[in-house]
Amino acid sequence: MGFLKPKFQKSAITAKENFRASLGAWFSSEGKDFPWRNTRDPYAILVSEVMLQQTQIATVLGKGYYVRFLEKFPDIRSLANAEDESLLKAWEGLGYYRRARMIRETARAILEIHGGVFPEKEAELLELPGIGHYTAAALRAFAFDRVSGLVDGNVSRVLSRLMDDYRCVDATITMRAQRLRAEKLCDPEHPRRHHYAMMELGQTICRPGIPHCEICPVSGFCKTRTPEKLPVKKPRTKTTEVSEYAIWARDDAGRVLLHHESGNRRNGLWKLPLRTPEQCSPLKHVTNETYAITRYKVRLAIYLSDPERESDMQSGDQWIAAGRLHDMPMAAPFRRVVERLLPDF
Ligand code: SF4
Repeated sequence: MGFLKPKFQKSAITAKENFRASLGAWFSSEGKDFPWRNTRDPYAILVSEVMLQQTQIATVLGKGYYVRFLEKFPDIRSLANAEDESLLKAWEGLGYYRRARMIRETARAILEIHGGVFPEKEAELLELPGIGHYTAAALRAFAFDRVSGLVDGNVSRVLSRLMDDYRCVDATITMRAQRLRAEKLCDPEHPRRHHYAMMELGQTICRPGIPHCEICPVSGFCKTRTPEKLPVKKPRTKTTEVSEYAIWARDDAGRVLLHHESGNRRNGLWKLPLRTPEQCSPLKHVTNETYAITRYKVRLAIYLSDPERESDMQSGDQWIAAGRLHDMPMAAPFRRVVERLLPDF
């Protein structure tokens, strides 16, 4: 700013202040009321932020995941001590189960390194497992009311449009520039309100595709004339379709054959045992399910088997009493199949 003449410096500062005031006034009257916006507890805010990564607000809130999780693990100590099965059960249906284990790692590190008290400094937050730039900034903004470089997908879109910036928002250098921009634009008098307002502007008005510029509280400060072309992103990876084959088998005692996962992605979760297409081909097909995971669209086909055929069980397979199924953590697509096939579930 040192090269600007005082007159220009003043008008730039005034514009920024007016922008903050317009945004703040809009949010104060129109801002949505979410449970995580009514707390300053960094633990509750961390839980909400981790859940909202890759899961929509409507799911996290509407299906009660956030409230139930906090009832089960009300503080950092209870989460740090959570057993695998109980943790995964509380996360069931949210997907991306690595997030559940990672947030437990974060809780454990805060207990061990900081005696259970969340650090406020960005550098200390970034040293914790599972905390990246976004989560550190969210904690600083929402729990500690600090100016931060908070940029999620919504804020990134708003910033690109406000500045008419055609740089690719997925590039590391642009991400860094956007964080700096967010920090500089933030209202130092009301950081928490400002950051919530930027996110909400992107969620409700400055939407992907064609935004609602006609009702935008900051349209007078916006530089773009082609908002529908912004932000510029890397081309999406193509979705690949794959097939999975699983069996549904019950024994005379009514037990169901399940498989306990040991792979990376869903380690510790239960599912119906997978088999090869050749193993399933003589069996009767009973139902299908589809689900998406990362860049894959999976078509899951279920075949009816029986205890005799499955007597040679594969590693990880176990017969489970039907009454226990409800309490066992299971990935959502398999849960849907079990609910469909077990009438008294
Ligand atoms: S005027 Fe339109 S493009 Fe600009 S910030 Fe508002 S909604 Fe987004």
